Amino acid sequence: MRCEKMIDNSGRITIPKYMRKMIGITGEEKLDVTLMDEIGQIVLRRKALKCAICGSPKNLTEISGSHICRNCIAAVSALEKEL
Ligand SMILES: [Zn+2]
Repeated sequence: MRCEKMIDNSGRITIPKYMRKMIGITGEEKLDVTLMDEIGQIVLRRKALKCAICGSPKNLTEISGSHICRNCIAAVSALEKEL
């Protein structure tokens, strides 16, 4: 799958909405940008999602732009009850 996009004067491009939707990008997200060779091939790669607290890749929920796993949400909730 490919498309042709214009890069603006600041170096920005827009990834088409249908492509973002296909891979589950719903909002702002960091991507790895790799220059593959001297002919100008650039690869954008989604970072593997993981919990911002424990690093687990499972049962994630996005909270204010960060991904937190179910276990850490439960741990934080338990701490709040103690306070
Ligand atoms: Zn976690």
